[in-house]
Amino acid sequence: MLIQFKPRWNISIVNPLRKIFQNKTFLTEIKTDDILASLSGGRMFFLGFFLWSFTEVTAAQQGPPPPSPPPPPLLLVSFDGFRADYLKRFPMPNLKLLYSQGVLVQELTNVFITKTFPNHYSLVTGLYAESHGIVGSSMYDPDSHKYFHPSSDLDPVWWQEAEPLWITALDSGLRTATAMWPGSDVTIGNRTATHFLPYNGAVTFRQRLGNVTQWLLGNDKESGVKFVVLYWEEPDRTGHMFGPENDTAMSKALKEVDDNIGLMMSELKRIGLWGRVNVIVTSDHGMAQCSPERLIRLDDCLHPDNYTLVDVSPVAALVPRQDTEAVFNLLNDCHAHMTAYMKKSIPERLHYRNNRRIQPIILLADEGWTIVQRGDHLPQLGDHGYDNSLPSMHPFFAATGPGFRGGVEMSELKSVDIYPLMCHLLSVTPRPNNGSLEPARPLLAAQCTAGDVSLVFTLVVGVALFLLTMAFVFRWVCRCCSPDSTSFQRLQTGDDDDDDDGGGLFH
Ligand SMILES: [Zn+2]
Repeated sequence: MLIQFKPRWNISIVNPLRKIFQNKTFLTEIKTDDILASLSGGRMFFLGFFLWSFTEVTAAQQGPPPPSPPPPPLLLVSFDGFRADYLKRFPMPNLKLLYSQGVLVQELTNVFITKTFPNHYSLVTGLYAESHGIVGSSMYDPDSHKYFHPSSDLDPVWWQEAEPLWITALDSGLRTATAMWPGSDVTIGNRTATHFLPYNGAVTFRQRLGNVTQWLLGNDKESGVKFVVLYWEEPDRTGHMFGPENDTAMSKALKEVDDNIGLMMSELKRIGLWGRVNVIVTSDHGMAQCSPERLIRLDDCLHPDNYTLVDVSPVAALVPRQDTEAVFNLLNDCHAHMTAYMKKSIPERLHYRNNRRIQPIILLADEGWTIVQRGDHLPQLGDHGYDNSLPSMHPFFAATGPGFRGGVEMSELKSVDIYPLMCHLLSVTPRPNNGSLEPARPLLAAQCTAGDVSLVFTLVVGVALFLLTMAFVFRWVCRCCSPDSTSFQRLQTGDDDDDDDGGGLFH
C-alpha cells in the first residue's frame, strides 16, 4: 500500500516524516524508530498537541450519547415455599434448563420473619419487614386497633409504609402487571399496577400465565407491560401438609412446579418473547419439618388471661395485658427450645424491632419446633417463619434473559438485593431500600453503552500519547547520556534545516 504526501503541506512536522515515507514503499517497512528518529523535541510536542486536539474535537463531535433503548420486559415469578435444597433433592429439569442458560443463586438469605407476606413485600421493595411494615402474615396495629390476616389483607392501611416496584415503575413511564402476588390487589398510594388479578386461589397456574403473556404482548390499543409479577402457591401448600421430608409428596408437588416452569418457557417461546424478556424465578422462604414430639405449650408457663396472642408459631407475638416484665420473665424460662425477646432486645441482625406492629414480646421457636397454646395437636407437618439464618428457611434465585450472564452460579445473596437488581434491569430509580446492587453485579450481562465506547476510545488515544512521549523522553535521555552525545549535539546543530535531505539526524 503506497503512502503519499502532498508536497504543498508546509508544516515542519511533515517534512521529516516525508523523508521516511519517501524511502519506504510499504507500510510494513516503516518502523516507530524511524518516525521517532525524525522528530525533534519541538516537533514531538506539536505532534502530541495535534493528537490531543484531535481527540478532544472527536469527543466533542460525539456529543451526548444517544437515548438508551427501552429495557427488556421483566417477569418475576415466585413459587411459594420453594426451599433451596429442593433443587438438589428433586430433578427439576425445566428449572435447570432455565438457569443453565442464565444464572443461579443457590441460597437467598431472606428476611425475618420468614413468612409469606413479609418476604413477598421485601422482594418488591428491597426493605426489611421492620421498614415496610408487613411484619407478619398475622398482625395487630396498635394505632388503628386493626388485625391483619392473609384472608383479610385488602385494607390499604397495612401496605402504605412502602412502595412496591409495580407502582414505582409507573413513574418511569412503564406499564406493569401483577398476578396474585401478595399485596398486589391493594391500592397503595391510591394506585395499583396497570393490570392486576384479584387474589383467587382457584385460578390455575395456566390461567394466571395466560394473563401474564397477554399483558406482556399488549394489543392494538396498548403496548405490552414492562414489569409483571406472578405468584403460585406451591410447593408451600404441600410442604405444610406433608412436611418437606416427605419425598413422595414433595416429589409430586415439585414435578408440578417444574411442569409449570416448562409451560411458562414454552409459552414465552410461542409468543416470541423467550430470550427477549428477563425472567426471574425465586421464592419467599423454605420449609422445616415439624413433629408432634416438638411442641411448646404456652399454657404450661402462663395463664392465657395475661396476654393477647397476635401470631402463634414459630414466632409468637404477644401483647401483655398488664405487667410486661413479669410476663416476659415467665416466658423466658418456659422452654429450652424457645427464646423470648423483649421488643427492645430483639437482635439487630434480624432487622425486626423498629415498627409499631412488632409486639412488646416475641417468642422464637428453634428449627422444627412448634408453639401452641395448649394440647397435643400439631397443626401442620411443615412450617416456616424461623430464624432467617437457617438454611432450611432459604429459597433460591434463578434468572435468564438478555440482562443476565449465562452459566453463572453464586452461593448466596440477600433477598433485599433483588429489588435494586430489578430496578437496574428496568432502568427505574430505586426507592430507598436495604439492598445493594453490588453483590448482584456478577449476575449481570456486560453492557456496552455509547459512553463506554467513548471512554475506551479516549483511553486508547491517551495511552498511545503517553507511550509516544515516554519513548521520546527515553530516547532523548539515552542520547544525552551516551558517550558520543557531544557529536550528536554537533550533528544536530549542523543540520538545522528541516528541508535538508542529508539525513544526518539520529544515525
Ligand atoms: Zn410463603
